[in-house]
Amino acid sequence: MCGQMDHNEACEVSCTSNDDCEPGSRCALVDPSDPNAPIVLRCAPRLGAFELGDACQRDDVCGSGLCHEGFCTEPCGTCANGMACEPSTIHRYGIDTNLSVCRWRLAAPALELGPIDTPLPDGASVEFDVPPNLASFVVVLESDEGLRVTAESLQAPDGTLLIDPADRASSLNPAVDYIGIVSVLVPASDRVEGRPQPGRWRIRPNTYDPTLFGELQPLPGRIDRISVLFEPETEVGGQLDLVLGLSPGLGIDVKTASTSTFVMRLLERIDTHYAPAEVRTADVRFVLLDATHDTVEDGVETRGMCATLSEPGPRGVSVNVFVVEDLSYTDGHSGGIPGPPGIHRSNGSCIVVESLGNGAHTGTLVAHEIGHFLGLHHTTGVDGRPDPISDTPICAEGTEVSECPDYDNLLFPIFPLQSDLQLTPGQIDVLRRNPLLHERPR
Ligand SMILES: [Zn+2]
Repeated sequence: MCGQMDHNEACEVSCTSNDDCEPGSRCALVDPSDPNAPIVLRCAPRLGAFELGDACQRDDVCGSGLCHEGFCTEPCGTCANGMACEPSTIHRYGIDTNLSVCRWRLAAPALELGPIDTPLPDGASVEFDVPPNLASFVVVLESDEGLRVTAESLQAPDGTLLIDPADRASSLNPAVDYIGIVSVLVPASDRVEGRPQPGRWRIRPNTYDPTLFGELQPLPGRIDRISVLFEPETEVGGQLDLVLGLSPGLGIDVKTASTSTFVMRLLERIDTHYAPAEVRTADVRFVLLDATHDTVEDGVETRGMCATLSEPGPRGVSVNVFVVEDLSYTDGHSGGIPGPPGIHRSNGSCIVVESLGNGAHTGTLVAHEIGHFLGLHHTTGVDGRPDPISDTPICAEGTEVSECPDYDNLLFPIFPLQSDLQLTPGQIDVLRRNPLLHERPR
């Protein structure tokens, strides 16, 4: 008979994941006592009191005896809801071991559809079923070839056209188009009823010429992936993780960035703008960008930075914000409205802003771009078009900018850099439904 305290070979059950071990025990890395031997995994009694996914700093506080990237993890197997089994390099007993472990991936797609060739035949669409009790869902369309992508139409189960091909921009729930990847958030408007209706939805994605801006010229091709993410009603609002990339020209040491006045003012300002929405910044990681990015010349370079430098962060939902000395073609750029939630290393997986010299002012600029990344349009578009939200004021054509009734809204296109810019209840309602926000304080 083998008891918990037995350590003779015959009693030690080898394992590849926790699923192989009895309840109350764990699949543990065992010290091979020989630096040239591979690490072996054997079932062992649970160690600390912390559960899978809890924040940790040491192995022995975790039941699994394995603290990795700041969270209790385990060799997988089956992972908890919101986690995914992913390959990792675990360094223990002086040895690097490649092991699949559970990691937080809070915005993992619920459905993977596609690929499809575009255009779809006349009248055809991609269909998917939406469960009840969702706060929102997001459909992400990706073209590996880098074509411009968007949804031509989107139809709710009751037949309502949320994206109307006859007048896309004035649709009830408009979606933007973008190069290589685009996200369609439902609801993107507080006017959408049913929020969102359970049942069968129909989307008609298409591909367009990426070299044309401001017009959609269909170009046959392919959409390689169509991912659908579901955000349950119970997970609305919460915390926002950031990866903050800093270009060397800003003169901030990334190792001590959290104590730099510029960074502290920047983060404080984001929290100030989002306090009315009860959204606050949580885990913030700092990355030093390459000096070649001190000046970012154009959208091609911005999309390249998103595609090569963005990181998922500890829970898979970090918004990557790259602050550079000079963004030559604009002040700030968001990788879509909204950005692709939980998808990193794509053209749309980041925000790039230029430093305004002052941390607080730069923080207001970042907060504006985060508004786009979470799904908010400009209150009044630069083309004069209103956003899809019912309670944001609209600036009439010809009005002096500072006289616009939405001049003090965070999503006005030419906003003053002040801390008291507004978010309306309608805007707050939309942004809080974004799957990037999480309630995982532990
Ligand atoms: Zn903007």
